[in-house]
Amino acid sequence: MQDYKHILLAADFSGHGEEVAARAQDLAAKFQARLSIIHVVDYLPLANVDYDTIVPFDVDVTQELMAAAKKKLVKLAEKLAVPDDRQWLEMGSPKLEIVRVAQEQGADLIVVGSHGRHGLALLLGSTANGVLHHATCDVLAVRLRDD
Ligand code: AMP
Repeated sequence: MQDYKHILLAADFSGHGEEVAARAQDLAAKFQARLSIIHVVDYLPLANVDYDTIVPFDVDVTQELMAAAKKKLVKLAEKLAVPDDRQWLEMGSPKLEIVRVAQEQGADLIVVGSHGRHGLALLLGSTANGVLHHATCDVLAVRLRDD
């Protein structure tokens, strides 16, 4: 197996997140690789059917979401000893932002959690699926138990 040099952890701050973070940290230590973290605040436009337009989230709400996410990101980064310049807080589609930052920062492994969904959820696609399909580097999907 090749030595990974730069691992990007995709953190969603869910209950299972610690498991995924621990795996990324463990791999970074094993390969003596740099570890970066990304969290993406989902951009949820409000469709306004009456006006035939897409109304973006209220600016204040957006800023509040970003500020709350930043706190969680900093806390996780402290725990994993990841410095400021390797913490990424983005807004948009999680899968696309994760892949974009991985490419721009030259990550050679992305670590995500995977719920192993089936049926409709699989057709719609999870973040892990999306990352797997779009990434140009390796992707490790840490299997999470839905209990
Ligand atoms: P999901 O399939 O969307 O429930 O998420 C599976 C995995 O994708 C999570 O365990 C995270 O590793 C990653 N992920 C999901 N949402 C985000 C997000 N907003 N920012 C960063 N990573 C995410």
